[in-house]
Amino acid sequence: MKTFELNNKQRIPAVGFGVFMIPNDGPTYDATLAALKAGYRHIDTAAGYCNESDVGKAIKDSGIDRSEIFITSKLWVQDMMDYESAQKGIEASLEKSGLEYFDLYLLHQACGDYFSAWRAMETAYQEGKLKAIGVSNFYPDRLVDLALDTDVVPAVNQVEVNPFHQQDAALIYNTKYGVQLEAWAPFAEGKNGIFTNETLVEIGNKYNKSVGQVILRWLVQRGIVPLAKTVRKERMQENLNIFDFELS
Ligand code: NAP
Repeated sequence: MKTFELNNKQRIPAVGFGVFMIPNDGPTYDATLAALKAGYRHIDTAAGYCNESDVGKAIKDSGIDRSEIFITSKLWVQDMMDYESAQKGIEASLEKSGLEYFDLYLLHQACGDYFSAWRAMETAYQEGKLKAIGVSNFYPDRLVDLALDTDVVPAVNQVEVNPFHQQDAALIYNTKYGVQLEAWAPFAEGKNGIFTNETLVEIGNKYNKSVGQVILRWLVQRGIVPLAKTVRKERMQENLNIFDFELS
């Protein structure tokens, strides 16, 4: 799969598989295993999704070498009170997932004492427990403020990006500071008729691709990493099949 280079030289697969709202104790395990089988090598979970343990189990059982899979998790806001609570939150994520390291770990929101939480993430990064660190849901002003005032500039900012919420300003500022933009809810969570939107359907017809594929391709061509979620195997495949065409 195509990859993008992060600001610390780590490479991130251009499309990720998200597991938000998929329950733990079975469903996330099944979905992650199926996604790995379909060819995904980038999984996006979070402490707040309460399914890190299923993700970790699926990765172990997949038989795929750990070094070939890029796994992201996130620190939830209750663990952003201070440096110590963030340290505990990071350790809890590692323990729940049963993984020795995360490829990427994010501050889920700009909440609480997120500067202290960031410093705890910097320590875990120096220790090799987190191979890259970043943020999520940071507006450009917060992002620039953090980037200018820390030792490690965030590698990633994960924000909502989809055709209804295109984030032009975020793309400009994140790119300027060397921060890779990721798109959550690339399909706008299926709301507002996105899959039957006339313009998107028309573009899909032109390339013989589905609306979902047009959206993901549009994001990747803008240099953004989409995180697509589905529990259906055929859609997992469909959402990966975007590297054989180019939007004009
Ligand atoms: P999404 O990916 O925009 O949309 C998921 C919806 O689209 C599901 O209802 C899914 O249904 C459907 N779908 C997927 N592929 C499809 C296709 N090819 N054709 C038709 N329908 C399709 O929404 P999301 O799950 O909210 O966001 C994606 C990921 O971003 C999450 O899983 C999570 O990892 C991340 N995220 C992060 C944050 C944050 O604050 N950082 C917030 C939200 C999400 P089925 O499952 O039934 O196929």
